[in-house]
Amino acid sequence: MTPVMPISTVFSKISSPVQNQEWTKNPIEQTEPVSTTGIDFVQKLPWLKDKTLESSMLALKDLKFDPDDIKYLKNMGVKVPYKSGAEAVKFIEKQNIRILFDKTTEPGIHAQYDFGRNIITINERYRNTNDFPVILAIAEAILHEAGHAKDNDGDSSVQEELDFLGMNAIAHRAFLRKYGDIFSDSTEPIISDGVSIYAKLFFEPDPEKRNLVQRIKDKYGDLPSGDRMHPPGALARAVKRNPIQNALFT
Ligand SMILES: [Zn+2]
Repeated sequence: MTPVMPISTVFSKISSPVQNQEWTKNPIEQTEPVSTTGIDFVQKLPWLKDKTLESSMLALKDLKFDPDDIKYLKNMGVKVPYKSGAEAVKFIEKQNIRILFDKTTEPGIHAQYDFGRNIITINERYRNTNDFPVILAIAEAILHEAGHAKDNDGDSSVQEELDFLGMNAIAHRAFLRKYGDIFSDSTEPIISDGVSIYAKLFFEPDPEKRNLVQRIKDKYGDLPSGDRMHPPGALARAVKRNPIQNALFT
């Protein structure tokens, strides 16, 4: 849609050269927890005071994937890192990952995980939003970045992105099933150029998923096809084919 924007990565991760030094060193702010919703995040995540993020985390915690959707992805060579939203929330608690609204490295990036600081950043454009579809989209973004955090490395690959974007696709389908078609009117980029796109592309009937391959090529074509945690499957290899064509989009 917007080829003028050189980087409009949907869920991007900063590949930081800083190794794992700060993984467990983030100081926990010992401040008085303020309960507004009565959910147990206040106890488990005392730093989480932002109402929007709290709502997103609650939606994430309740998120359940359809087993058939997981199977569908598996047949495409896409492996989800979490079996449910609750599993991702548990990981965030355990690893003391912070989530906040802030500037992303490029304005077109919706969310990113900073490995060196162990922080998930959501684009500050969505700070204080009350828009429920956006709150759900933020939940999906957190899920994706929590996937990167689970790898415990500073790198990504085409297969890694496919695994996490595939998880986004089935998360989005779960929200659609639960709440109905609440996303289609939204013009917010995190929805219209983010979560809605992947739910559609991963589930297109085309067995070669050509539109998906093209999209991943445009957004992530510079990454290696796979890595230690995410050995490349057929889709990732298709993304890496035709480097000349790919150069048109970078
Ligand atoms: Zn990613």
